[in-house]
Amino acid sequence: MTRLTGLYPGTFDPLTLGHIDIIKRAVKLVDTLLVGVAVNAGKGPLFDLDERVDMVREALDGIDSEARAQIKVVPFDGLLMHFAEQNGCQVIIRGLRAVSDFEYEFQMVGMNSFLNEEVETVFLMADARYQAIASRLVKEIAKLGGDIDDFVPPSVARRLLAKVGRG
Ligand code: ADP
Repeated sequence: MTRLTGLYPGTFDPLTLGHIDIIKRAVKLVDTLLVGVAVNAGKGPLFDLDERVDMVREALDGIDSEARAQIKVVPFDGLLMHFAEQNGCQVIIRGLRAVSDFEYEFQMVGMNSFLNEEVETVFLMADARYQAIASRLVKEIAKLGGDIDDFVPPSVARRLLAKVGRG
């Protein structure tokens, strides 16, 4: 049987409980899951690439060891489809929140299928508790002095509060 490799790409600036929920679901569907942390300089990330990779790796400690063994956290730059091809990924995993994600993701699937029609994109939904969580809003709440413990794992909360001068 073909062994399936999935790629879950994102900016993860920072990693949230929504992302972790998607990772836990995705790992059940594939043999190996690459969590691709995109440089994404265009989005002007708050955390640099190494910090974002470290945050994802640290948070995997909270996932059971069997699933953890299937997961690799890797930085990437450039075109998503090239990265998927170079790493033998047959499936791209994306998380889908409310309608707001749909338009963008719909376009991405369309464009990516022109680049390589063999690679399928699969959408997963997080548990209802995590669906509203967005990295952008978590950063805003942290900056404005709000409580972020319901949105990110403790290791990310510590880094984020330090980053916004509340450490
Ligand atoms: P990108 O810049 O690629 O959108 P993000 O880190 O914002 O990177 O998100 C990575 C993926 O995780 C995207 O598919 C996004 O829709 C999904 N995602 C983010 N937050 C959630 C959440 N709370 N529930 C489900 N999916 C999510």
